[in-house]
Amino acid sequence: MLTKIIDKHKVDETLSQIENAKQIAIVTHMSPDGDAVGSALGLYQHLLTCGKKVSVIVPNRFPDFLAWMPGAENVLVYDEMKEQTEIALKKCDLLFALDFNTLTRIGNLNSIVKNLACKKILIDHHRDPDDFCNVVISYPKIASTSELVFRLIYSMGFFPQMTLSCAECLYSGMMTDTGAFTFNSNDPEIYYIISELLKKGVDKDAIYSKVYNTYSVDRLRLMGYTLGQKMEILPEYHTAIITLTKAELDKFNYKEGDTEGFVNIPLSIKGIVFSVLVKEGKDMVKLSLRSRGTFPVNKVASTLFNGGGHINASGGESYESMKDTVKKLKAALPHYQKELEESC
Ligand code: 5GP
Ligand code: MN
Repeated sequence: MLTKIIDKHKVDETLSQIENAKQIAIVTHMSPDGDAVGSALGLYQHLLTCGKKVSVIVPNRFPDFLAWMPGAENVLVYDEMKEQTEIALKKCDLLFALDFNTLTRIGNLNSIVKNLACKKILIDHHRDPDDFCNVVISYPKIASTSELVFRLIYSMGFFPQMTLSCAECLYSGMMTDTGAFTFNSNDPEIYYIISELLKKGVDKDAIYSKVYNTYSVDRLRLMGYTLGQKMEILPEYHTAIITLTKAELDKFNYKEGDTEGFVNIPLSIKGIVFSVLVKEGKDMVKLSLRSRGTFPVNKVASTLFNGGGHINASGGESYESMKDTVKKLKAALPHYQKELEESC
């Protein structure tokens, strides 16, 4: 049996909102990851089973290694299909906001979603959600939004009707947000949920392969170059910093998702507890921060780079040059020395 984590009145309210809705939109965050796409498509598959008309909307394109998920071909990418996306949003009488806690995380969709008059339901596991939804299903202790969607469907009494397609999407999100169950995954109930998903016919080994074993040669060569030449180790701060300029990324024909996971690799070095990937984009520098132990990277991301996230995985942005961004990061390290030591 699963513990009933989601408040009963929120489950009941969500159920009644779904029953009353005809056209539903599901929106998730910019640079969608496995949990964003998995939770959105899992919920999409469930709502289709309930006979609803549903649109899944993402601000920009998701990586190819997520494109196999059932329903991915129907996702509206706002960047590329502005008109169609806006029509879908205007038509909806219920909106689900998945896997983000603040409207800035949906980029250009921000003001459109904010101004929609329809009911909104948030399902998310990031701390301190903004107040923009009528129902807020926010549980930061839960490892993935996909797990929350599973718990919601289960609590609404729809597990018996769950399709294999729905189960596959939810499993994928649970897997990717825990690094294939290698971090943030000690809750025994995760494995109860997995056992229930396996009973639906999920092939977890095949899903692992579809997500993690489909990279391009360019991506592997970029990884070799990054680890060989672009990883700076600062032993006194137990820190690793990787920088990749736009020119370097272009040289390896960079595609969305190609640097996925790079930031985790330095954490496999003995004594390294903090790792940062600094990547130059079109109009900003994007930072990914990871840690082992108690070092709160979300604090670094929010203090220095207008970002946020989880204690061991967060991100932020910088509108300064790469050089100045790295300088700012390095200058801050002495302030965190004690916390870095304690995390070893
Ligand atoms: P990633 O490094 O994989 O892009 O992001 C890791 C986590 O950090 C995400 O799951 C998300 O919670 C958070 N995150 C990434 N970028 C940002 C950002 O720009 N702002 C905020 N608030 N959180 C971010
Ligand atoms: Mn997530």
